[in-house]
Amino acid sequence: MGRACRRVAVVGAGWAGLAAAVQASADGHAVTLFEMASHVGGRARSVAIEGLALDNGQHILLGAYSETLRLMRLVGVDPEQLLQRRPLELLYPDGSGLRLPRGNAHLAFAWAVARRRGWRWRERAALLVQALGWLRNGMRNPGVGTVGQLCAVLPQRVRAELIDPLCIAALNTPSADADATVFLRVLADGLFGGRGSSDLLLPAAGLSQLLPQPALHWLERQGATLRLKHRVQAIATGVRSAWSVDGCEFDAAILACSASEAARLASPLNAPWSARAQSLTHEPIATVYLRRTRPLTAPMVALHSGAEQPAQFAFDLGLLGQHPGLAAFVVSGARHWIDRGLPALASAVQRQAAHDLRGSFDDRPEIVHSTIERRATFACVPALARPPAKVAPCLWAAGDYVDGPYPATLEGAVRSGVGAARAAQAA
Ligand SMILES: Cc1cc2nc3c(=O)[nH]c(=O)nc-3n(C[C@H](O)[C@H](O)[C@H](O)COP(=O)(O)OP(=O)(O)OC[C@H]3O[C@@H](n4cnc5c(N)ncnc54)[C@H](O)[C@@H]3O)c2cc1C
Repeated sequence: MGRACRRVAVVGAGWAGLAAAVQASADGHAVTLFEMASHVGGRARSVAIEGLALDNGQHILLGAYSETLRLMRLVGVDPEQLLQRRPLELLYPDGSGLRLPRGNAHLAFAWAVARRRGWRWRERAALLVQALGWLRNGMRNPGVGTVGQLCAVLPQRVRAELIDPLCIAALNTPSADADATVFLRVLADGLFGGRGSSDLLLPAAGLSQLLPQPALHWLERQGATLRLKHRVQAIATGVRSAWSVDGCEFDAAILACSASEAARLASPLNAPWSARAQSLTHEPIATVYLRRTRPLTAPMVALHSGAEQPAQFAFDLGLLGQHPGLAAFVVSGARHWIDRGLPALASAVQRQAAHDLRGSFDDRPEIVHSTIERRATFACVPALARPPAKVAPCLWAAGDYVDGPYPATLEGAVRSGVGAARAAQAA
């Protein structure tokens, strides 16, 4: 603080834009938030479907999401109330899998692997030796491209039942294509980051209640100007100040819209930056909501996925205190299903649930809703040239795709938003 109040425009009210707006407002600036939709939250929000407030895709958070948790508290949300905290577990329906005990992160991982049911001792030892090697090397990439190459020496079962599901859940990119450097960083901060960092934080309320709505109300109380249903058309050099956003003058602007919209708006101002943002490719994620007859064995269950068994995880929304009798099935890296179509995908998940989770579903569980987000995350592949945060003097970009150590996640989006607001403050 102690600096003059500046007029800051934030374009886009996803988690990155809301984080930028809240941080800039907390720093004492006069914020105007533009959002083209009638609602806030972007890709992580609740949607009203036949009387139910379902999420536009099941999300999980981790204990390592420190900036997201800080921001939730800042806008008056108690994360302990709205998130169910559980030690990391990747358990399959038969109860096999990895379950980390509480305590020291390294010891918890070693303990969980050593006690992993269903793996031979050689498989467990190979994983422990490999993990020790990564830790000794400071979790730095030893010089390979993909996660597949990084883990090539691991036994097939360890890859299929641990590395592949972790990789697709965290990077939304199959291990054969996914960037080893980013994967190691996720393991470093998530799995080995310190006490509680690997905990799963499962939403016990709709996504919009976690941050988007409380942040909007908080901004309103701070006197921010909120312009929903306003798609920003153009950003140009201002007459009396740095930038003109659709004709309104601002001292600084933060583009927190999608990569393609940021590329469009930045194109006349910084063509190379715009080209980088435009060059990112994307991976879809689908979520299928099914009616269950009995609760799953845990709020989150890992599934054996394959060509005809699309889902990698199932979530019991009843056990999570959200929707009694409902389960959400997540299909990450769902690009192969785009051509086959959402109804075919939902039917495949229906069969998978009836077969793999027989105790909780009848032979043909009701499909309550299915949804696919085609541009859910950027494809996190090696040697990716993500655009930097700075676009031009007093103009920054924020979003999960902006250059940073993390894949496309809520925490990546929030950190990028907070970082852009701090850069505006420092400029
Ligand atoms: C199905 C699904 C599951 C996911 N699961 C997880 C998970 O488990 N854990 C996790 O951490 N992450 C997960 N993610 C990723 C996470 O949702 C994203 O990383 C995060 O929401 C990105 O936020 P953002 O603010 O960067 O972008 P966005 O949410 O895309 O926000 C951009 C906003 O800008 C607005 N906008 C665009 N153009 C303009 C314009 N010209 N003018 C005004 N406004 C504009 C848009 O309407 C939007 O509201 C998942 C994503 C999906 C889709």
